[in-house]
Amino acid sequence: MGHLKKYYIMAENELNRRRTLNHEIQQSHIAEAEKAIPELSALRKKLSASGAKLSSILISGGDITKKLQQIADENISVSRQIKELLVKNGYSPDYLEPVYSCTKCNDTGIYENERCSCFLNDVKKFQCADLNASSAMNLCSFDTFELSFYSAKADSNGVVSHDRMEKIFNYCTEYARDFHLPVSGILMLGGTGLGKTHLSLAIGREVINNGYSVIYGSAPDLFNQIEKEHFSSHDEDNDTLQLLKECDLLIIDDLGTEFESKFNYSTLYDLINTRMNKGIPIIINTNYLLSEIQERYSGRIISRLATMKILPFCGEDIRLMKKAEF
Ligand SMILES: [Zn+2]
Repeated sequence: MGHLKKYYIMAENELNRRRTLNHEIQQSHIAEAEKAIPELSALRKKLSASGAKLSSILISGGDITKKLQQIADENISVSRQIKELLVKNGYSPDYLEPVYSCTKCNDTGIYENERCSCFLNDVKKFQCADLNASSAMNLCSFDTFELSFYSAKADSNGVVSHDRMEKIFNYCTEYARDFHLPVSGILMLGGTGLGKTHLSLAIGREVINNGYSVIYGSAPDLFNQIEKEHFSSHDEDNDTLQLLKECDLLIIDDLGTEFESKFNYSTLYDLINTRMNKGIPIIINTNYLLSEIQERYSGRIISRLATMKILPFCGEDIRLMKKAEF
């Protein structure tokens, strides 16, 4: 388990936090309903007193079957009265029941003797958050993306940067807002400073807010980390590649700036291929032209990239324009 142990503990704490919160919600439901329906309190006391009765019967011994049956019948009748009262007063019949965030495992974190998917998703989210800690995910949003930096005049090819970028912006906002799985990936092409990183981080931020696990990293950082772990002798250090294959959305920034090596190529193919087979997307940003990508990467990587939505960014370097404003 290695590194994972830390995230399992975090997920366990998260589960406890949720249980406490849900218990408080249930208690507030009970308090509210008892205030609105005065008869409820006595009925609920009857129910909880049956537990004590039960233990005294068990201790007394003898022919207890009949007595137990009597208590069970009483409980059913009292429960029914409670539900009827609730409904009569405009509440749902299970308003006083425990509240669960995950109805699959009832917030135990265990389902069919295995870790429940809710728990494993939390583990994944904590891992991703850790990897994203140093990224600018929190700084880049769709709101801070400025279309006014793109020219409204046609360039020598007849392309109006502002119009094309507006389409790209709209595509990205919709992609993030309607994010679901499976979905295809995005290949963002264009020179430096055209807003690729900004928009991909904005997508990442929104998709995280929608409850998905997202990892963002620059190609050199991600590949260096994977390589380091691959050649490390500690098993517990091999978490990153697995996580990159499994997170709901992977964003690789600046593809092409990683070190050229067989290891990195096969890792890239492995990542793209595994994720595409599972229907979980990658967003890839690159300063390379399509022809340069073709020169650098193998046919099997290209054919996979070609199935992604291609967004050709255009305009002038926004970072320089922003600086020039001062
Ligand atoms: Zn669960």
